[in-house]
Amino acid sequence: MAYALVLNSGSSSIKFQIVDPTASASDRPFVTGLVERIGEPNGRISIKIEGRHVESNMPIRDHRGGLMLAIAMLDANGAGPTAVDIIACGHRVVHGGKTFSAPVLVDDEVVEQIRELVPLAPLHNTANVDGIEVARDLLPNVPHVAVFDTGFFTDLPAASANYAIDLDVAQQHQIRRYGFHGTSHEFIAREVADHLGQSVEELNQIVLHLGNGASVSAIRGGQAQDTTMGLTPLEGLVMGTRSGDIDPGVIFHLYRTAGMDIDAIDDLLNRHSGVKGLSGVNDFRVLHEKMEEGDEKAKLAYDVYIHRLRRYIGAYMITLGRVDTITFTAGVGENDATVRTNSLADLENFGIKIDEEKNQNGSGPRIISTEDSATKVLVVPTNEELAIAQKSAAIAESL
Ligand code: ADP
Repeated sequence: MAYALVLNSGSSSIKFQIVDPTASASDRPFVTGLVERIGEPNGRISIKIEGRHVESNMPIRDHRGGLMLAIAMLDANGAGPTAVDIIACGHRVVHGGKTFSAPVLVDDEVVEQIRELVPLAPLHNTANVDGIEVARDLLPNVPHVAVFDTGFFTDLPAASANYAIDLDVAQQHQIRRYGFHGTSHEFIAREVADHLGQSVEELNQIVLHLGNGASVSAIRGGQAQDTTMGLTPLEGLVMGTRSGDIDPGVIFHLYRTAGMDIDAIDDLLNRHSGVKGLSGVNDFRVLHEKMEEGDEKAKLAYDVYIHRLRRYIGAYMITLGRVDTITFTAGVGENDATVRTNSLADLENFGIKIDEEKNQNGSGPRIISTEDSATKVLVVPTNEELAIAQKSAAIAESL
Protein backbone atom coordinates (compact mmCIF):
# COMPACT_ATOMS: atom_id res chain seq x y z
CA MET A 1 0.00 0.00 0.00
CA ALA A 2 1.17 3.56 -0.70
CA TYR A 3 1.39 6.02 2.17
CA ALA A 4 2.09 9.69 2.75
CA LEU A 5 4.25 10.90 5.60
CA VAL A 6 2.71 14.06 7.06
CA LEU A 7 4.90 16.36 9.15
CA ASN A 8 3.80 19.22 11.35
CA SER A 9 6.96 20.84 12.68
CA GLY A 10 6.68 23.23 15.62
CA SER A 11 9.39 25.17 17.41
CA SER A 12 10.07 22.37 19.91
CA SER A 13 8.10 19.47 18.48
CA ILE A 14 7.41 17.45 15.35
CA LYS A 15 4.05 15.75 14.99
CA PHE A 16 3.90 13.15 12.27
CA GLN A 17 1.59 10.60 10.74
CA ILE A 18 1.92 7.94 8.09
CA VAL A 19 -1.41 7.89 6.35
CA ASP A 20 -3.07 6.06 3.50
CA PRO A 21 -4.26 9.01 1.40
CA THR A 22 -7.21 6.99 0.13
CA ALA A 23 -8.47 6.29 3.67
CA SER A 24 -11.66 7.85 4.94
CA ALA A 25 -11.64 10.54 7.60
CA SER A 26 -12.61 8.21 10.42
CA ASP A 27 -9.99 5.52 9.64
CA ARG A 28 -7.17 5.24 12.14
CA PRO A 29 -3.86 6.38 10.62
CA PHE A 30 -1.23 3.66 10.16
CA VAL A 31 1.24 5.63 12.31
CA THR A 32 0.96 8.67 14.56
CA GLY A 33 3.97 10.08 16.34
CA LEU A 34 5.30 12.97 18.33
CA VAL A 35 8.84 14.19 18.89
CA GLU A 36 8.65 16.61 21.78
CA ARG A 37 10.81 18.86 23.94
CA ILE A 38 13.38 19.30 21.18
CA GLY A 39 16.39 21.17 22.55
CA GLU A 40 15.66 20.14 26.14
CA PRO A 41 17.35 17.38 28.15
CA ASN A 42 14.14 15.40 28.63
CA GLY A 43 13.15 14.87 25.01
CA ARG A 44 10.71 12.16 24.06
CA ILE A 45 9.60 10.32 20.95
CA SER A 46 6.32 8.47 21.15
CA ILE A 47 4.91 6.52 18.23
CA LYS A 48 1.73 4.52 17.75
CA ILE A 49 1.85 1.92 14.98
CA GLU A 50 -1.57 0.40 14.32
CA GLY A 51 -2.43 0.98 17.97
CA ARG A 52 0.89 -0.40 19.32
CA HIS A 53 2.79 2.14 21.38
CA VAL A 54 6.59 2.57 21.33
CA GLU A 55 8.42 5.28 23.17
CA SER A 56 11.95 6.53 23.66
CA ASN A 57 13.19 9.13 26.12
CA MET A 58 16.44 10.92 25.43
CA PRO A 59 17.81 14.40 24.87
CA ILE A 60 16.97 15.58 21.33
CA ARG A 61 19.28 18.28 20.11
CA ASP A 62 17.41 19.67 17.17
CA HIS A 63 14.82 18.89 14.51
CA ARG A 64 17.35 16.92 12.49
CA GLY A 65 18.17 14.69 15.46
CA GLY A 66 14.49 14.29 16.29
CA LEU A 67 13.44 13.24 12.82
CA MET A 68 16.45 10.91 12.41
CA LEU A 69 15.57 9.14 15.66
CA ALA A 70 11.90 8.95 14.74
CA ILE A 71 12.70 7.40 11.34
CA ALA A 72 15.11 4.93 12.98
CA MET A 73 12.39 3.94 15.47
CA LEU A 74 9.88 3.52 12.65
CA ASP A 75 12.32 1.40 10.65
CA ALA A 76 13.13 -0.75 13.69
CA ASN A 77 9.41 -1.46 13.99
CA GLY A 78 8.86 -2.23 10.32
CA ALA A 79 6.94 0.99 9.74
CA GLY A 80 9.65 3.27 8.36
CA PRO A 81 10.60 4.35 4.86
CA THR A 82 12.72 1.22 4.29
CA ALA A 83 9.73 -1.08 4.78
CA VAL A 84 6.80 1.12 3.79
CA ASP A 85 6.12 2.70 0.41
CA ILE A 86 6.13 6.44 1.16
CA ILE A 87 4.99 8.19 -2.03
CA ALA A 88 4.97 11.75 -0.65
CA CYS A 89 5.98 13.77 2.36
CA GLY A 90 3.45 16.50 3.16
CA HIS A 91 4.47 19.43 5.30
CA ARG A 92 2.00 21.60 7.15
CA VAL A 93 3.14 25.20 6.68
CA VAL A 94 1.34 27.84 8.67
CA HIS A 95 1.83 30.95 6.56
CA GLY A 96 1.77 31.01 2.78
CA GLY A 97 1.26 34.77 2.61
CA LYS A 98 -0.02 35.93 -0.76
CA THR A 99 2.55 33.71 -2.48
CA PHE A 100 0.95 30.30 -2.01
CA SER A 101 -2.72 29.62 -2.57
CA ALA A 102 -2.35 25.92 -3.32
CA PRO A 103 -0.11 23.08 -2.16
CA VAL A 104 3.22 23.12 -3.92
CA LEU A 105 6.04 20.70 -4.69
CA VAL A 106 8.99 21.79 -2.57
CA ASP A 107 12.23 22.80 -4.25
CA ASP A 108 15.00 25.16 -3.14
CA GLU A 109 13.10 28.18 -4.42
CA VAL A 110 9.95 27.24 -2.51
CA VAL A 111 11.98 26.85 0.68
CA GLU A 112 13.37 30.36 0.13
CA GLN A 113 9.88 31.75 -0.47
CA ILE A 114 8.57 30.18 2.75
CA ARG A 115 11.57 31.62 4.54
CA GLU A 116 10.74 35.07 3.15
CA LEU A 117 7.36 34.80 4.88
CA VAL A 118 8.97 34.29 8.31
CA PRO A 119 8.23 37.89 9.39
CA LEU A 120 4.50 37.10 9.07
CA ALA A 121 4.74 34.03 11.33
CA PRO A 122 8.13 34.08 13.04
CA LEU A 123 7.83 31.00 15.23
CA HIS A 124 5.74 28.85 12.94
CA ASN A 125 7.36 29.37 9.57
CA THR A 126 10.87 29.09 11.02
CA ALA A 127 9.99 25.70 12.47
CA ASN A 128 8.23 24.67 9.25
CA VAL A 129 11.33 25.51 7.18
CA ASP A 130 13.52 23.55 9.62
CA GLY A 131 11.24 20.54 9.28
CA ILE A 132 11.20 20.73 5.48
CA GLU A 133 14.97 21.04 5.17
CA VAL A 134 15.67 18.16 7.52
CA ALA A 135 13.07 15.92 5.89
CA ARG A 136 14.38 16.68 2.40
CA ASP A 137 17.87 15.68 3.53
CA LEU A 138 16.70 12.48 5.21
CA LEU A 139 14.23 11.46 2.51
CA PRO A 140 15.79 12.81 -0.69
CA ASN A 141 13.97 10.46 -3.05
CA VAL A 142 10.47 11.31 -1.88
CA PRO A 143 8.57 14.31 -3.33
CA HIS A 144 8.00 16.89 -0.59
CA VAL A 145 4.87 19.00 -0.69
CA ALA A 146 4.07 22.12 1.33
CA VAL A 147 0.42 22.59 2.32
CA PHE A 148 -0.47 26.01 3.68
CA ASP A 149 -2.86 26.83 6.51
CA THR A 150 -3.66 30.11 4.80
CA GLY A 151 -4.06 28.62 1.30
CA PHE A 152 -7.84 28.23 1.27
CA PHE A 153 -8.25 31.93 2.11
CA THR A 154 -5.81 33.46 -0.38
CA ASP A 155 -8.67 34.55 -2.64
CA LEU A 156 -10.88 36.10 0.01
CA PRO A 157 -12.88 38.96 -1.51
CA ALA A 158 -11.01 42.25 -1.09
CA ALA A 159 -13.74 43.57 1.20
CA SER A 160 -12.99 40.92 3.82
CA ALA A 161 -9.26 40.57 3.14
CA ASN A 162 -8.38 44.23 3.77
CA TYR A 163 -8.01 46.08 7.04
CA ALA A 164 -9.09 49.71 6.92
CA ILE A 165 -5.65 51.18 7.52
CA ASP A 166 -3.38 53.33 5.34
CA LEU A 167 -3.12 51.28 2.16
CA ASP A 168 0.55 52.10 1.57
CA VAL A 169 1.49 50.96 5.06
CA ALA A 170 -0.59 47.80 4.61
CA GLN A 171 1.01 46.97 1.27
CA GLN A 172 4.53 47.75 2.38
CA HIS A 173 4.25 45.41 5.35
CA GLN A 174 2.00 42.74 3.80
CA ILE A 175 -0.75 43.53 6.29
CA ARG A 176 -4.03 41.92 5.33
CA ARG A 177 -6.34 39.20 6.56
CA TYR A 178 -4.86 35.82 5.65
CA GLY A 179 -6.97 33.41 7.69
CA PHE A 180 -5.77 30.08 9.16
CA HIS A 181 -7.08 26.51 9.67
CA GLY A 182 -7.71 26.61 5.92
CA THR A 183 -6.88 22.94 5.41
CA SER A 184 -9.56 22.03 7.93
CA HIS A 185 -12.22 24.44 6.62
CA GLU A 186 -11.73 23.22 3.06
CA PHE A 187 -11.68 19.56 4.11
CA ILE A 188 -14.88 19.96 6.13
CA ALA A 189 -16.67 21.77 3.30
CA ARG A 190 -15.95 18.77 1.05
CA GLU A 191 -16.83 16.19 3.69
CA VAL A 192 -20.16 17.93 4.26
CA ALA A 193 -20.92 17.89 0.54
CA ASP A 194 -19.98 14.17 0.35
CA HIS A 195 -22.10 13.38 3.39
CA LEU A 196 -25.11 15.12 1.86
CA GLY A 197 -24.48 13.62 -1.58
CA GLN A 198 -24.24 17.10 -3.08
CA SER A 199 -21.45 18.95 -4.81
CA VAL A 200 -19.51 21.54 -2.86
CA GLU A 201 -20.26 24.08 -5.62
CA GLU A 202 -23.97 24.13 -4.82
CA LEU A 203 -23.66 24.66 -1.06
CA ASN A 204 -23.37 27.80 1.08
CA GLN A 205 -21.65 26.74 4.27
CA ILE A 206 -20.60 28.06 7.64
CA VAL A 207 -17.83 25.98 9.20
CA LEU A 208 -17.10 26.32 12.91
CA HIS A 209 -13.61 24.95 13.66
CA LEU A 210 -13.63 25.00 17.46
CA GLY A 211 -10.47 23.55 18.94
CA ASN A 212 -7.99 25.18 21.27
CA GLY A 213 -7.46 27.60 18.40
CA ALA A 214 -10.81 28.42 16.81
CA SER A 215 -12.13 30.04 13.66
CA VAL A 216 -15.29 30.34 11.59
CA SER A 217 -15.51 30.53 7.83
CA ALA A 218 -18.22 31.50 5.36
CA ILE A 219 -17.93 29.42 2.19
CA ARG A 220 -20.00 29.94 -0.97
CA GLY A 221 -19.84 27.15 -3.52
CA GLY A 222 -16.52 25.93 -2.14
CA GLN A 223 -14.94 29.42 -2.18
CA ALA A 224 -14.11 31.12 1.12
CA GLN A 225 -15.92 34.46 1.49
CA ASP A 226 -14.76 35.38 4.97
CA THR A 227 -13.02 33.94 7.99
CA THR A 228 -12.44 35.12 11.53
CA MET A 229 -8.64 34.90 11.76
CA GLY A 230 -6.60 37.68 10.21
CA LEU A 231 -2.96 38.67 9.77
CA THR A 232 -2.29 36.23 12.61
CA PRO A 233 -4.40 33.57 14.33
CA LEU A 234 -5.18 36.05 17.12
CA GLU A 235 -8.21 37.68 15.50
CA GLY A 236 -11.79 36.54 15.76
CA LEU A 237 -13.31 34.06 18.19
CA VAL A 238 -12.50 33.76 21.85
CA MET A 239 -10.15 30.76 21.97
CA GLY A 240 -8.55 28.49 24.54
CA THR A 241 -5.82 30.98 25.41
CA ARG A 242 -6.20 33.75 22.79
CA SER A 243 -8.36 36.81 23.22
CA GLY A 244 -9.69 36.90 19.67
CA ASP A 245 -11.08 40.31 18.64
CA ILE A 246 -10.02 43.13 20.89
CA ASP A 247 -9.98 46.90 20.55
CA PRO A 248 -6.39 47.64 19.39
CA GLY A 249 -6.59 50.52 21.85
CA VAL A 250 -6.22 47.93 24.63
CA ILE A 251 -2.66 47.34 23.43
CA PHE A 252 -1.78 51.05 23.58
CA HIS A 253 -3.41 51.27 26.99
CA LEU A 254 -1.44 48.31 28.38
CA TYR A 255 1.75 49.75 26.93
CA ARG A 256 1.23 53.29 28.20
CA THR A 257 -0.46 52.76 31.54
CA ALA A 258 0.45 49.22 32.65
CA GLY A 259 4.06 49.54 31.51
CA MET A 260 3.95 46.24 29.63
CA ASP A 261 6.36 45.85 26.73
CA ILE A 262 5.26 44.49 23.41
CA ASP A 263 6.40 40.92 24.12
CA ALA A 264 4.50 40.87 27.40
CA ILE A 265 1.33 42.04 25.62
CA ASP A 266 1.85 39.45 22.88
CA ASP A 267 2.17 36.78 25.57
CA LEU A 268 -0.92 38.05 27.39
CA LEU A 269 -3.16 38.08 24.32
CA ASN A 270 -1.91 34.80 22.80
CA ARG A 271 -1.28 32.63 25.84
CA HIS A 272 -3.04 34.03 28.90
CA SER A 273 -6.31 35.27 27.49
CA GLY A 274 -9.42 33.69 26.02
CA VAL A 275 -11.26 31.11 28.08
CA LYS A 276 -8.13 30.50 30.15
CA GLY A 277 -7.58 34.18 30.84
CA LEU A 278 -11.12 34.59 32.12
CA SER A 279 -11.49 31.32 34.02
CA GLY A 280 -8.05 29.82 34.65
CA VAL A 281 -8.70 26.75 32.46
CA ASN A 282 -8.90 26.20 28.72
CA ASP A 283 -10.17 22.63 28.51
CA PHE A 284 -13.92 22.74 27.98
CA ARG A 285 -14.43 19.53 29.95
CA VAL A 286 -12.94 21.21 33.01
CA LEU A 287 -14.75 24.45 32.25
CA HIS A 288 -18.12 22.65 32.40
CA GLU A 289 -17.17 20.95 35.68
CA LYS A 290 -16.32 24.32 37.17
CA MET A 291 -19.57 25.82 35.94
CA GLU A 292 -21.49 22.98 37.55
CA GLU A 293 -19.69 23.75 40.82
CA GLY A 294 -20.97 27.33 40.55
CA ASP A 295 -17.65 28.92 39.52
CA GLU A 296 -18.64 32.39 38.29
CA LYS A 297 -15.45 33.00 36.31
CA ALA A 298 -16.01 29.78 34.39
CA LYS A 299 -19.58 30.88 33.62
CA LEU A 300 -18.34 34.30 32.45
CA ALA A 301 -15.70 32.71 30.19
CA TYR A 302 -18.30 30.38 28.69
CA ASP A 303 -20.79 33.21 28.13
CA VAL A 304 -18.20 35.46 26.45
CA TYR A 305 -17.11 32.53 24.27
CA ILE A 306 -20.67 31.73 23.14
CA HIS A 307 -21.55 35.40 22.64
CA ARG A 308 -18.62 35.94 20.26
CA LEU A 309 -19.36 32.72 18.40
CA ARG A 310 -23.01 33.70 17.88
CA ARG A 311 -21.95 37.14 16.69
CA TYR A 312 -19.92 35.57 13.88
CA ILE A 313 -22.56 33.00 13.00
CA GLY A 314 -24.98 35.90 12.57
CA ALA A 315 -22.49 37.90 10.54
CA TYR A 316 -21.81 35.00 8.18
CA MET A 317 -25.52 34.30 7.73
CA ILE A 318 -25.75 37.83 6.32
CA THR A 319 -22.55 37.38 4.28
CA LEU A 320 -23.94 34.26 2.61
CA GLY A 321 -27.61 35.26 2.44
CA ARG A 322 -28.70 31.64 2.17
CA VAL A 323 -27.03 29.15 4.49
CA ASP A 324 -27.38 25.48 3.60
CA THR A 325 -25.18 24.03 6.31
CA ILE A 326 -23.56 24.97 9.61
CA THR A 327 -20.92 22.45 10.65
CA PHE A 328 -19.15 21.95 13.96
CA THR A 329 -15.67 20.46 13.96
CA ALA A 330 -12.41 20.11 16.00
CA GLY A 331 -12.04 19.24 19.72
CA VAL A 332 -14.81 21.42 21.13
CA GLY A 333 -17.03 21.41 18.05
CA GLU A 334 -16.98 17.62 17.72
CA ASN A 335 -17.36 16.76 21.41
CA ASP A 336 -19.21 19.52 23.23
CA ALA A 337 -22.95 19.16 22.64
CA THR A 338 -23.69 22.00 25.08
CA VAL A 339 -21.60 24.46 23.07
CA ARG A 340 -23.48 23.34 19.95
CA THR A 341 -26.85 23.82 21.65
CA ASN A 342 -26.02 27.25 23.03
CA SER A 343 -24.37 28.63 19.92
CA LEU A 344 -27.48 27.93 17.80
CA ALA A 345 -30.22 28.38 20.45
CA ASP A 346 -33.36 30.37 19.57
CA LEU A 347 -32.65 30.63 15.85
CA GLU A 348 -35.84 28.89 14.70
CA ASN A 349 -36.97 32.16 13.07
CA PHE A 350 -33.85 31.95 10.93
CA GLY A 351 -34.59 28.36 9.94
CA ILE A 352 -32.02 26.78 12.26
CA LYS A 353 -33.18 24.10 14.69
CA ILE A 354 -31.07 21.47 16.43
CA ASP A 355 -32.56 18.07 17.24
CA GLU A 356 -31.31 17.54 20.81
CA GLU A 357 -31.61 13.77 20.60
CA LYS A 358 -29.25 13.76 17.60
CA ASN A 359 -27.03 16.43 19.12
CA GLN A 360 -26.43 14.49 22.33
CA ASN A 361 -25.89 11.09 20.70
CA GLY A 362 -23.95 9.57 17.86
CA SER A 363 -20.47 9.79 16.45
CA GLY A 364 -18.78 10.41 13.14
CA PRO A 365 -20.14 12.75 10.46
CA ARG A 366 -23.83 13.36 11.09
CA ILE A 367 -26.72 15.77 10.79
CA ILE A 368 -27.96 17.08 14.15
CA SER A 369 -30.71 19.42 12.95
CA THR A 370 -34.41 18.62 12.79
CA GLU A 371 -36.02 17.48 9.54
CA ASP A 372 -37.74 20.86 9.17
CA SER A 373 -34.61 22.97 9.83
CA ALA A 374 -34.00 24.98 6.63
CA THR A 375 -30.28 25.05 7.41
CA LYS A 376 -28.78 21.65 8.10
CA VAL A 377 -26.56 21.53 11.17
CA LEU A 378 -23.81 18.90 11.13
CA VAL A 379 -20.98 17.55 13.23
CA VAL A 380 -18.07 16.40 11.05
CA PRO A 381 -14.71 15.31 12.50
CA THR A 382 -11.80 17.15 10.94
CA ASN A 383 -8.67 15.35 9.84
CA GLU A 384 -6.03 17.83 8.72
CA GLU A 385 -3.36 15.14 8.37
CA LEU A 386 -5.50 13.15 5.96
CA ALA A 387 -6.23 16.33 4.00
CA ILE A 388 -2.48 17.05 3.76
CA ALA A 389 -1.81 13.41 2.78
CA GLN A 390 -4.43 13.63 0.02
CA LYS A 391 -3.05 16.88 -1.38
CA SER A 392 0.55 15.67 -1.20
CA ALA A 393 -0.21 12.32 -2.82
CA ALA A 394 -2.13 14.08 -5.61
CA ILE A 395 0.91 16.24 -6.42
CA ALA A 396 3.29 13.27 -6.18
CA GLU A 397 1.10 11.24 -8.53
CA SER A 398 0.96 14.08 -11.06
CA LEU A 399 4.75 14.14 -11.44
P1 ADP B 1 -5.94 22.07 18.76
O1 ADP B 1 -5.73 21.19 17.54
O2 ADP B 1 -6.26 23.48 18.43
O3 ADP B 1 -4.94 21.91 19.84
P2 ADP B 1 -8.24 20.37 19.28
O4 ADP B 1 -9.07 20.51 18.06
O5 ADP B 1 -7.54 19.08 19.52
O6 ADP B 1 -7.28 21.60 19.43
O7 ADP B 1 -9.19 20.70 20.54
C1 ADP B 1 -8.70 20.65 21.83
C2 ADP B 1 -9.78 21.11 22.78
O8 ADP B 1 -10.97 20.36 22.58
C3 ADP B 1 -9.44 20.92 24.24
O9 ADP B 1 -8.72 22.02 24.74
C4 ADP B 1 -10.82 20.84 24.89
O10 ADP B 1 -11.23 22.14 25.26
C5 ADP B 1 -11.72 20.35 23.78
N1 ADP B 1 -12.24 19.01 24.01
C6 ADP B 1 -11.64 17.84 23.75
N2 ADP B 1 -12.44 16.81 24.11
C7 ADP B 1 -13.58 17.35 24.60
C8 ADP B 1 -14.79 16.83 25.15
N3 ADP B 1 -15.02 15.52 25.24
N4 ADP B 1 -15.72 17.72 25.56
C9 ADP B 1 -15.51 19.05 25.46
N5 ADP B 1 -14.40 19.59 24.96
C10 ADP B 1 -13.44 18.76 24.54
